[in-house]
Amino acid sequence: MSERRRPSEEKGVGTLQRLRAVLANPSTYEYAESLPAHDAAGPGGRPRLYPTWLWFAVCALADITTSVRSAVAHLADPDVWDLVRREAARHLGVPDGGLPEQPPSRSWYLAERRRHIQPNTEAVARAAMRLGVNDALDQGLLDPEKPWRLDDRTRRPMADGKVISPITSASSTDTRTVYERDPSSGLRRPKMVVDESTGELVVLRRPVRHDPEVKSYHTGDGRQVVGHKFVQVTVSGDQTNRRAFIGLGSVLGDKGEANSEADVLMELFGDLAHLAPGIVGPVTDTVLRGAHFELMQRLYGWVPIAPVAAKKLDHKTGRRLEEKEGPLETYSFEGCEAGPVEVWYHRGRLRKLVWTDGSGAELVDMAWHKVRRNRNAKGTWNVYVEYALECHCGAHSKVVRQSTHRRSSDPAGFNRAENVRAVPPCSRAYDAVYPFRSASEGDNRAIDDHLWLRRARSYGRDRQLLDLVGHALHVNSLGRQLWGTKGTRRHELDGPAPLARAA
Ligand SMILES: [Zn+2]
Repeated sequence: MSERRRPSEEKGVGTLQRLRAVLANPSTYEYAESLPAHDAAGPGGRPRLYPTWLWFAVCALADITTSVRSAVAHLADPDVWDLVRREAARHLGVPDGGLPEQPPSRSWYLAERRRHIQPNTEAVARAAMRLGVNDALDQGLLDPEKPWRLDDRTRRPMADGKVISPITSASSTDTRTVYERDPSSGLRRPKMVVDESTGELVVLRRPVRHDPEVKSYHTGDGRQVVGHKFVQVTVSGDQTNRRAFIGLGSVLGDKGEANSEADVLMELFGDLAHLAPGIVGPVTDTVLRGAHFELMQRLYGWVPIAPVAAKKLDHKTGRRLEEKEGPLETYSFEGCEAGPVEVWYHRGRLRKLVWTDGSGAELVDMAWHKVRRNRNAKGTWNVYVEYALECHCGAHSKVVRQSTHRRSSDPAGFNRAENVRAVPPCSRAYDAVYPFRSASEGDNRAIDDHLWLRRARSYGRDRQLLDLVGHALHVNSLGRQLWGTKGTRRHELDGPAPLARAA
C-alpha cells in the first residue's frame, strides 16, 4: 500500500532487458555453486567450453522467449552474445566472462542438463529457495527489520499448487505410422513390413513419444487434470514485477507416501522459516488445515492466513452443506443483569449467541481485536486471538482471548487450530491480505504464458521443475532489477541495466 501502480509500469519489458536482468543477478552464477564440482574436462578429455552458470542463464532465457530453441537463436545473434559476454565479464571480473566466441547450441543445453543438472535436481530446487530469498530481500521483501505487522504483504509468502499440461497428450499405447520414400517415384509412402505371426504385409507403426511420468490430479473444484503438479511459494510487493519465487517443489501425491501438496508445502515452509526470519506467515488456500496451522504457529511463531474449508461441499452447487460451528466458552460480566454471554466458533471466527424474541437464537459478529504471540521457555510460541465482547445489555464489555492451539480442557475431537483462527475471514488483516492471493493465481497464469502453447517445455517431472527454476530466475531477476535496493530506488524500465549493482 506504500505506492500505487502507475500506468507507466504496465508497459512491457523487452527480451534484452530481461536477459540483462538475469545476467546482473548474482543468483544466476550462484546456482552453479549448488551443484557438485564439474570435472574440468568433459568426456573424452576435451576442456569444457561453457561454464555451468550459463546453463541457468539459458534456462531463464528459454522462459523469457518460451523455448530453448528460441533462446539459442537469440544467443546466435552476435550482438546478443556480445552482450552476454560483456555482462558476465562485468559480474565475474574475468575477460569475456570466461565465455568463448561461439554461442552455445541447443544440443549443448540438452547434454549439460542430462549429464550435470538433472541428476542434481533436488540440489537445484533447494538452491532456488535460498537464492530466491536473497532475490526477495534485494527487493525489500521478507525484510525482518520492518515492524511486525499482520497485514504486511511483503512478508507474507503466497503458496499455490499448479498442474502443468504435459508436452504431449500422447499415451503409452499411441502409435504413429512410419513413412519412407518410394525409390522409383520419390513419393512418401507408409513403410510396410511382414507381420511375423501372420506372414502378411502390414503398415509399420511405432510408439509415439510420451511422458510416462504424468499423473492425473483432482482440482479443488472437482475437475480432473493430467500433467505434473508443482507447488510454488512467492512473495510480492504492491508494484508490478516486484515479486520473487522463494520455493518450488514437486507434488507426487502418492497415497500413503507423505508427498501430498500439503506435505511438500510444509517441508518448504520448514526450510523457509530458517532461511527467512522476516516471514509473518504464509497465505494459502484450504490445502492447509488446523494441524498445519498449529505446527507453523507453535514452531515458527507464524500467523498464517487461509480460508476455512467447508466441512462438506456440494460439488454441484459449491454450497456448504454443514457449518463448522459450536459453543466455545461462556463469559460473565460483573455487575451485568443480562446474564452471561455464550461465545461460539463459526467458520474460523468467534461469534456471540444472542436469543431472539421467538425463542430462537442467532450468532452475532464480534469485533476482531488483535493477535497476541507469546514465546515460552522452550522456544515455541503460543498464538492467541482477541475479540471485543459486549454483554447482552450493552453497557458492559471486555476483550476476550482464545488460544488457537489445542487446550487440555478442549473436548475430544475438537480441532481448535482449524476452528479458532488467529486471522479469520472478515478480520481486518484477512481482508487486507487474502484478496491478493489472486496475485499468486496470476503467477500461475504467468507460468503458462512462458510455455510454448501453454504446454510443458520438456518431458518428465525433474526437467519441468528445472524449467520452473528458469521461470523463477527470470521473474526474480526482473524484480531485483526494477525494485532493487530495498524497494526505495526504482530503475528506469527502458534505461540501461543498473550495472553498479552487479559489481
Ligand atoms: Zn451488561
